[in-house]
Amino acid sequence: MSKLLAESLVRDIPDFPKPGILFKDITPVVQNAAALREVIDEMAALTRPFKPDVVVGIEARGFLFGAPIALEHGTGFVPLRKLGKLPGNRIAEEYALEYGTNTVEIHDDAIEPGQRVLIVDDLLATGGTAAAAARLVERVGGIVAGFVFLAELDFLEGRTILDKYPVVSLLHFD
Ligand code: AMP
Repeated sequence: MSKLLAESLVRDIPDFPKPGILFKDITPVVQNAAALREVIDEMAALTRPFKPDVVVGIEARGFLFGAPIALEHGTGFVPLRKLGKLPGNRIAEEYALEYGTNTVEIHDDAIEPGQRVLIVDDLLATGGTAAAAARLVERVGGIVAGFVFLAELDFLEGRTILDKYPVVSLLHFD
């Protein structure tokens, strides 16, 4: 694959949100029309073999990619949200982040038992968020068909805790 426009647009922000974290800012990618089209096309193409019935996006940057990828696959989109944001009956999973802890929730009726679920987020770091997302999907009866990320921080080896599942990332950073 030739070098992607998006790769040159991901911006490093040192010491955000905490000292010592090099934050990969993907906002320049989604604000560029050509890059946005490119990454949605590529992320949809990479995940077509997963044959998803539904796409789950992780709040908040996972929504930016998840909903358009769902449109490409002709599926619905399910938001996985931070603690206290979903209005209906929901279940929760807590997880450790590269910088702190967090809780994600899903509506308990969002996925039909046996549906194949593609989980989308902007970035794979330690994998804690993605693993919690997989636990939620499985607790409501879904089958995790795979994960797609815009970018992966390879040195954190987050994909090792997702080794039961197919994982694809468009961009890789050392
Ligand atoms: P993790 O659970 O460690 O894989 O962290 C993944 C989640 O935290 C994703 O939703 C990312 O948006 C965010 N995140 C973690 N580390 C970074 C980073 N260095 N740059 C940008 N986003 C990050």
